[in-house]
Amino acid sequence: AKKTLIVGGVAGGATTATRLRRRDDSMEIVIFERGDYISYANCGLPYYIGGVIESRDALLVTKPEVMRDRFHIDVRVSSEVTKIIPEEKKIEVTNKKTGEVYEETYDNLVLATGSSPIKPPIPGINADNIFTLWTVPDTDRIKAYLTEKKPRSAAVIGGGFIGLEMAENLHAEGLEVSVIEMQSQVMAPVDPEMANLVHENMIMNGLNLILGDGVKEFHHKGNTIQIELTSGNMVETDMVILSIGVRPNNELAKQAGLALNQKGGVLVDDYLQTSIPDIYAVGDVIEVTHYVTKDKTMIPLAGPANKQARILADNIVGDKKKYNGTLGTAVAKVFDLDVASVGLNEKQLKAMGKVKNQDYFVALINQKSHAGYYPGATPLTLKMLFDGEGKILGGQIVGQDGVDKRIDTLATTMRLDGTIYQLEELELAYAPPFSSAKDPVNMLGYVAENILRGQVKFIDWSELDTLLADESKKNSYTVLDVTEEMERMVFAVPNSIHIPSGQIHDRWNELDKNKMIILYCTIGVRSYNAARVLIQKGFKDVSVLSCGTSFYKSM
Ligand code: FAD
Repeated sequence: AKKTLIVGGVAGGATTATRLRRRDDSMEIVIFERGDYISYANCGLPYYIGGVIESRDALLVTKPEVMRDRFHIDVRVSSEVTKIIPEEKKIEVTNKKTGEVYEETYDNLVLATGSSPIKPPIPGINADNIFTLWTVPDTDRIKAYLTEKKPRSAAVIGGGFIGLEMAENLHAEGLEVSVIEMQSQVMAPVDPEMANLVHENMIMNGLNLILGDGVKEFHHKGNTIQIELTSGNMVETDMVILSIGVRPNNELAKQAGLALNQKGGVLVDDYLQTSIPDIYAVGDVIEVTHYVTKDKTMIPLAGPANKQARILADNIVGDKKKYNGTLGTAVAKVFDLDVASVGLNEKQLKAMGKVKNQDYFVALINQKSHAGYYPGATPLTLKMLFDGEGKILGGQIVGQDGVDKRIDTLATTMRLDGTIYQLEELELAYAPPFSSAKDPVNMLGYVAENILRGQVKFIDWSELDTLLADESKKNSYTVLDVTEEMERMVFAVPNSIHIPSGQIHDRWNELDKNKMIILYCTIGVRSYNAARVLIQKGFKDVSVLSCGTSFYKSM
């Protein structure tokens, strides 16, 4: 029988092993895992710390005994693979409990070694009260610290999804939590205006959010950590969670002479084979093709790792299945909001030198999670990027409810190479508790088509701000508020003209046709309707403020 050795026993490794067993009953399959646990729920770790997941056992999805008894897979935990000798098709293993070093031969070798949190050489970073969260023992250490030392405050360094999940869970444990992020926004996969909704919500929940500032040094005074920031500001805290990104666990691959990319990711072909025959790799450690750009990139997520693992197992037993790339579909819960993204964001498009309203277009809309008349409807903010042919380049959604299904609908459409025109046609399940007869995803399609056909033009918050600040353009535009009197008393863009949307049919001739007209209301619906009136009355340059003042005010 053939023998497949798998290095790494969590997402990619465990899935490869069980799928292999289902495909080939006679194959000898051995998993080597340097940690004490296999197949654990890394994604669930923050929720165990916060007490949402109560049982530690629930995190251990499959135990080595189950793998052995149910799947006849030989699982060796506390076993680190320290060397690959490709010429002899052999690996060297160190038993971390006994210190024994031995060799094992293979027909196929799978690297599913994952990634590890980055720990930069910041002075003072190595301390008992500075943690990273990646494994079950990491979790145990944090949990024990919380129980034994009863810290009152915590600082999370890094505003990615793991950092924010930790912030929420530590806050739920009653700690005062600071989040320190070097960039000017949290959740890098979404654009600033979307992240800003998250910022507001974090602050509303009592978090101390520090943006645009990095850590210079950790000073220790007894059990207290004083974090010195690059700005010179200090944050005092009882514990720190570092969550500033990951790097691929590529030491073995490097040693074996496998081809790597600049970030250290293992290069694989479409069939997940590395540069050396009979050695394959999956998961966080590999470089993938971005599904939209077709560029090479690293996307460390659990879904892709599992999909690659299944494809690889099938290929090992003789299929020839391609892994067609990763879209980076992701979702996270941050306090009251869910934040989701897929594909490219606008920051990336700009960095690629793409020009708005030329190379790409933006639909940014505000919708309800379900029919407004049914109780519990909450706002959804959706942003979609697409090109002139209607190809969807990416999407982002923030809201309290129904975010996940909308991002999945977008991701599915993108994966099937659908366009904005297909979004309009999607027939999605509807009853008042769930959605509207025109689902927010349909609405994205409608708005996108209107944009491409020139039936509406949008201006976003930053473009309006730039315009308002530009004295030289002062006489070239009119800002038109189409809200009701009461709303205008709450907020009005300075120097705007007021014509409630219901009066636009009768009062449009008060406006100067030679000027650009920028209409706004609270979410963008009434202003769009009024804009259509103006366009049909012969106004040539009419723009609607995306998502209206509800959004604009928050920036
Ligand atoms: P891993 O699952 O990390 O497994 C790699 C294993 O290989 C490790 O156990 C390691 O000990 C072992 N190993 C490495 N080198 C050796 C060696 N030389 N010898 C033996 N063993 C070795 N992704 C999502 O999509 N959604 C989420 O909500 C999400 N939440 C997350 C939350 C947390 C706290 C963490 C840590 C990760 C989260 N992820 C999430 C990311 C997801 O867990 C990873 O993308 C996924 O586990 C990658 O699978 P993998 O098999 O490549 O690596």
